[in-house]
Amino acid sequence: MDRILNRDLKDQVGNQVVISGWLHKKRLLGGLTFINLRDRSGLAQIVIKQKDEVEKLRGMQLGSVLTIKGTVKEEPRAPGGVEIHDAEISIDVPVEDQSPVEIDKPLSHKSDNLDTLFDYRPIGLRNIQETQIFKIRSELTRYIREFLYKNDFVEINSPKLVAGAAEGGAEVFKLDYFGQEATLAQSPQLYKQMMVGVFERVFEIAPAFRAELSATTRHVSEVTMLDIEMGFIKGYEDVLNMVQDLIFNVVSRVYKDMPEELKSLRAPELVLKPKFPRYTMAEIHKLYTKDTGNDTTKELDLTPDEERWICEYAKEHDGCEAVYATGLPKSKMKFYHMDNGDGTARSSDLLFRGVEISTVPQREHRYDKLVEQMKAAGIDPEAKGFAAYVSAFKYGLPAHGGCGLGIDRLVEKVIGLANIKEAILFPRDINRLAP
Ligand code: ATP
Ligand code: MG
Repeated sequence: MDRILNRDLKDQVGNQVVISGWLHKKRLLGGLTFINLRDRSGLAQIVIKQKDEVEKLRGMQLGSVLTIKGTVKEEPRAPGGVEIHDAEISIDVPVEDQSPVEIDKPLSHKSDNLDTLFDYRPIGLRNIQETQIFKIRSELTRYIREFLYKNDFVEINSPKLVAGAAEGGAEVFKLDYFGQEATLAQSPQLYKQMMVGVFERVFEIAPAFRAELSATTRHVSEVTMLDIEMGFIKGYEDVLNMVQDLIFNVVSRVYKDMPEELKSLRAPELVLKPKFPRYTMAEIHKLYTKDTGNDTTKELDLTPDEERWICEYAKEHDGCEAVYATGLPKSKMKFYHMDNGDGTARSSDLLFRGVEISTVPQREHRYDKLVEQMKAAGIDPEAKGFAAYVSAFKYGLPAHGGCGLGIDRLVEKVIGLANIKEAILFPRDINRLAP
């Protein structure tokens, strides 16, 4: 007899079946032994009466791998409304040591327990609630891909071992590459732009490495980044709209298709509109200063507290938890951004539930202007890390723009977790390199 999955037991009432999985819970009730068996589809409840079957489970700890043959009976109080009777048990992999984590109870996500949570990841993730975070993450990533394929984007893979730092600055991991200095890619920025010259529309979902020396709840040193780049835009509006439509589509879809998972994680209610409100950074500084009395009007970027504040403000005033903060001051402009010529760069931050999830700029696509901006930023266009990039412009790149979007932050915020690391299987930060 072939194994079936626990989720299909409800269609087998009265039939004999075989299931396999991990011993998830064991308890004695009124002289009967009840066990829960976990497989990839969920839990099944099994009632064991026969003495010799109960005896097989003696000393078997949670995590033991079992195969069980039995008859499916209706039982409204059991998961899925059915349970297995007349069980014949075989032990496939016995586990005699007690699990270091109590996987049948919700795990603590309090900040003082996060280290324990991550240290025991492979076991702790067997907790059903914990698993939901990563099922949501997997589906969300699938929705992103589906949206982009539908919009004619090609998925690419760019190298992560590179010669230069695309984003500049100090946040770069350097390493010895057969005697040469190399860096771990901070983003696929240069490569995705080059590929606009080939495919027009490209995207990549891949790790990006940021040597962030600060310990915050929103930074890790290995980020899973969604990078998008699209060519032949009519104007900047096309870029803002594409990223807005993508986020509206995938976040709404998670809330529509995964209500049970979100509920078990106590995710907040979603307040989102198809058109995200837009405020200039200067407007946000003014509004925030007026409301809080903390003067931020001299700030260039938004402060973390302003990011939180404007999302709350937009939720209340515009009925939308996602906001575009437009008009990045020119002094924060990267060499590949398009200059608006009015003291701002053509770049916006997309904020969601209090944090920046993406920066969405139009790029400078004109060769002469780009070279000028590189030189002004102290970058040699002929340097090893940049020569090929510049050649793509010399030989024809259309007007284009895109975004870099942190998948980890997006998952964190969609679920309403408190720390980005809770949304990452094996997070990396200043102190953590294992597991
Ligand atoms: P922040 O100012 O919040 O540190 P950033 O502006 O430096 O972010 P970008 O270079 O714009 O980040 O990267 C694009 C996106 O990638 C960010 O909006 C964010 O979602 C994500 N991201 C960047 N750096 C990190 C990091 N260290 N940890 C987690 N996510 C990150
Ligand atoms: Mg940014």
